Amino acid sequence: MNIDKIYQKTINKWGEEAQYDQTVEECAELIAALKHFKRGKASSQTVIDELADVTLMLGQLRWMFGAERIEAAVEKKLEKLNALLESSD
Ligand SMILES: [Mg+2]
Repeated sequence: MNIDKIYQKTINKWGEEAQYDQTVEECAELIAALKHFKRGKASSQTVIDELADVTLMLGQLRWMFGAERIEAAVEKKLEKLNALLESSD
């Protein structure tokens, strides 16, 4: 299974705008699942399923915005986090 082909097919079928909306929706479902899980109203599998949905959407957006740009931003944020952790020791 070629993931890049799937991302491209997704854009071809539903367009970019729909991917933004879908990501927002999946994030909201994960938020709700985590809230329910915390209160014992949802199983860990429900949370895992929602995490899978969000993971797929993040993969889609990562592909759309460019993996290198996102990697660079993640690296920058990790450095910042690491500096914060080191300074609070
Ligand atoms: Mg979902």
